[in-house]
Amino acid sequence: MQSQWPEAVQNYIDAGMEAAQQKQAHQKKVKTYRFDTLAVHGLYSAQDALNNQGSIIEPAFLSPAQHFENSDHMEAALAYQMPSWTYTRIANPTVGYLEDTLAMMEVYGSDIAASACATTSGMSAIFMATNPFLINPDRKSMNIVASSKCYGGTFMLFQERYANERGVEVRWVKNPLDLDEWAQHIDSETRFVFGEMPSNPGLAVFDIAKLSELAHQHSAPLIVDSTVASPALMRPLCFGADIVVQSVSKAMASSGLAIAGALIAKHNLISNVVADEMKQNFALNTKLLPFRDHGPGLSPFNALMVLTDLRTLRSKIDLMSQNAMAVASFLDGHANVETVSYPGLLDHPSHKLAKQHMQLVDCSENAHRYGYLMSFNVKGGAAPTRKVFDQLQIIFRATDLGRIKSVATIPAISTHQQQGESGRALGEVADNQIRLAVGGESVEDIIQDLDQALAQA
Ligand SMILES: *Cc1c(COP(=O)(O)O)cnc(C)c1O
Repeated sequence: MQSQWPEAVQNYIDAGMEAAQQKQAHQKKVKTYRFDTLAVHGLYSAQDALNNQGSIIEPAFLSPAQHFENSDHMEAALAYQMPSWTYTRIANPTVGYLEDTLAMMEVYGSDIAASACATTSGMSAIFMATNPFLINPDRKSMNIVASSKCYGGTFMLFQERYANERGVEVRWVKNPLDLDEWAQHIDSETRFVFGEMPSNPGLAVFDIAKLSELAHQHSAPLIVDSTVASPALMRPLCFGADIVVQSVSKAMASSGLAIAGALIAKHNLISNVVADEMKQNFALNTKLLPFRDHGPGLSPFNALMVLTDLRTLRSKIDLMSQNAMAVASFLDGHANVETVSYPGLLDHPSHKLAKQHMQLVDCSENAHRYGYLMSFNVKGGAAPTRKVFDQLQIIFRATDLGRIKSVATIPAISTHQQQGESGRALGEVADNQIRLAVGGESVEDIIQDLDQALAQA
């Protein structure tokens, strides 16, 4: 067949094909690695090291742009006909290493094919994962169906930006455990179904496989925010979800040196609105088109900070989860604590489903871990809650989570303040609730800090 490109450009395209095949072959090999090996190395091979003056760590490509050999090379690259990065807002080699690792982590242990698109923050990942489904404004109506038990930023994006500013109908599901409630809301005009699991701050859960079946019956994709679990505990794509969004800023960057986000989408996802190429590889085509135009490209420096933390994700999640379990058990029996929400507690309404979904990857004793995040309500209302909070000595007061340092917040006056009283009622965020993200300190010291603070209530 006659190529549509001049011969000199075609030569670059052919060379690009070969490089892509070599990468695919290496990816097949990495697919056989265990989780920690994948986390430590990603797709950065010994050959990549030799191509980078021997650097055993992925280099930080801080250059905004790529130099081309000549006009033919440039034309082939800018036509997206060969692997290249061109300009850091579109793509970047260091960011690419992070994307490869994230995509492989989310499908670890399965045959699912997926790609990732890294973004500046978790919120821009949620925006880029959802906005492409809200096209065709001339269609009669469109709706999105989402669990109201979600991060405050997500609530504001859907309620303020999508519903109030753009007229998208948002159907909130109040009890994500109740499949009938989801079923009542999803229909043929549903552009996507969205759930956070486990949710921040309430640790609510839902059955991913059953919800994805429901969504797919109406040709809608299921998007899951699994920031709180991370792929070390749960991989929603393997349960039937179409897209995972991660606030990479959290446990994936537990040292707290960078903000970042990512969407990871399975190939050939379900949707009755986006173009065929988007369905075939949503992450890549989002990256090449709408993401390029909106501009939330991740800094390569931040990508490197994340890669550095990601290498030890499994062991840190294990440590932080074990600490959290001990802290939750302590709080559960405390006289000044009204309730504790932690899925690891046997009597928590989420426990059974959380146990089905969350398991420490590659753990020899099949250990179930329930993550680092919990919330607890202090007896007596908002005033004693603030007293306890203000008394914390080791645990930081900040709107943050997933850190190697323990951090607490009162969601009603911070992360979930702007959604107002009615929005908080919808999400069941009470003003005597403290959200606690347990870190990697010695657990005795965290418990001691909580004990002395609770004595103030
Ligand atoms: C923090 C968080 C986000 C937003 O992530 P940023 O990186 O802060 O933009 C989204 N979802 C959940 C569950 C979060 O905890």
